[in-house]
Amino acid sequence: MRRVLTAATAALTLTTAGTMLTGGPGQAAPATWGRPTVTLAPQPGAPGLGDSYFPDYGNGGYDVSHYDVRLRYDPATDLLTGTTTILATATEDLSRFNLDFLLDVESVRVNGWAASTSTAGAHELVVTPARTVTRGQQLTIVVRYAGIPSETLVGDYTGWTRTDDGALAVNEPESAWWWFPSNDHPLDKATFDISVSVPTGVEVISNGVQPRPPLAEPGNRTRWIWRTTSPTATYLAFMAIGQYDIVTDTTPSGQPIVNAYSTSLGALGPAARASIERTAEIVDWESGIFGPYPFEAQGGVAGPVDGISFALETQTRPVYGPGFWRRGANTSVVVHENAHQWFGDSVSVADWRHIWLNEGFASYAEWLWSEEQGEGTAQELFDFTYASYPADSEFWQVLPGDPGADRVFDNAVYDRGAMTLHQLRLAVGDDAFFEILPAWTAEHRYGNGTVAQFQALAERISGLDLDDLFTTWLFTAGRPDVATAARKAAPPAEPKSWAKIREAHRLLAH
Ligand SMILES: [Zn+2]
Repeated sequence: MRRVLTAATAALTLTTAGTMLTGGPGQAAPATWGRPTVTLAPQPGAPGLGDSYFPDYGNGGYDVSHYDVRLRYDPATDLLTGTTTILATATEDLSRFNLDFLLDVESVRVNGWAASTSTAGAHELVVTPARTVTRGQQLTIVVRYAGIPSETLVGDYTGWTRTDDGALAVNEPESAWWWFPSNDHPLDKATFDISVSVPTGVEVISNGVQPRPPLAEPGNRTRWIWRTTSPTATYLAFMAIGQYDIVTDTTPSGQPIVNAYSTSLGALGPAARASIERTAEIVDWESGIFGPYPFEAQGGVAGPVDGISFALETQTRPVYGPGFWRRGANTSVVVHENAHQWFGDSVSVADWRHIWLNEGFASYAEWLWSEEQGEGTAQELFDFTYASYPADSEFWQVLPGDPGADRVFDNAVYDRGAMTLHQLRLAVGDDAFFEILPAWTAEHRYGNGTVAQFQALAERISGLDLDDLFTTWLFTAGRPDVATAARKAAPPAEPKSWAKIREAHRLLAH
């Protein structure tokens, strides 16, 4: 999560010649009555997928099914070299296509043939294959590259975090550009094999499972091998490289658990463990509310003291910054990041403007957990949150349903987002509400969703017209009126869970 590159995004527009002619994958070339059908020459793939906030994220013309990311990393120099093999299917006839990537490219091959490359925009690698690509063709794209990600900047920014003992490739929405070439938008999910060679004694943690133990390589090096077999959005792939204590276990249902704790945490280590070691319990509890856990493994990574300041729902294994443990254990953030495994990871945004579908739901999960733990009901948390933002606060000016590209992680998306779900629960009743949540995760499993689709589902299950509720809470500036205890003169009491939730959100939102 965190840094949103609006300036860089604005640098590139989507007016690449040819996109108007080729259209989307479902559009045939126009036929002209009475004259022979015009066959269009292959055109360049679009440099973006049309995201309303980040128009140049992702690319048009192909769909990726798998990334094989094979890397070599040296913590002493931050030098990353690698070969990524992309398996994809062309969705248009293409004269060329783009990947999103920033490091220096040594070579690209498409189906074995050397391709020529150039760069464009903020993060576009333009690939021109030796032979044109036809719609439906299977593509094997092999990219060899090298670079120092911490010194590879867009504007003044890198999404890569170099630490004393290694690095973290953990960020949202942009992270992949610094370590593997991709179609970088949640609309194009794929499976991953990620392997990294590091000096022996350094650990590498990534998504999914380890199909084999770390492998010794010549030169006193070790290759760590990770695999995720569920569809994964590019920003949810990650690496944590450094000095870690790794704790493995198996859930009662037989899923592998891999937790990892940076050895730099020192006195923060026990609080990190007391939180992250509860992941399996929390995932089990969440499964009872959100539906079956969608992935093949579980876990958490407690990052180093000089790493990230936030936490991210990296698939199968969230990564947490050290700040969450400063005042002791914090299960709220573990609940939040694991709720994202359903809301964000399995069901991903179709467009970044729908970020409420991620953050509102993960935040409301914290309220449900508080209720479960007897530390304050969701109603009490609603009342206290509502009262804690005065009517004239800027907070109420941000629309959770369309916060703007530079406010994707605004507090309002989290807190007003959770309040919206509580209002929905009050409107439809508990029976319908707790039917809507697993229905949503089932209907959009491994796919994408929009706010409108969620509203339609809630209306179908509840039988109610919810347009006023969604419009008021997600799309209208100003503090909505509520007829609850929040309207009383006396301020509501602070729920016991409030301090931990507040602490988590201070680091997650801004
Ligand atoms: Zn979140």
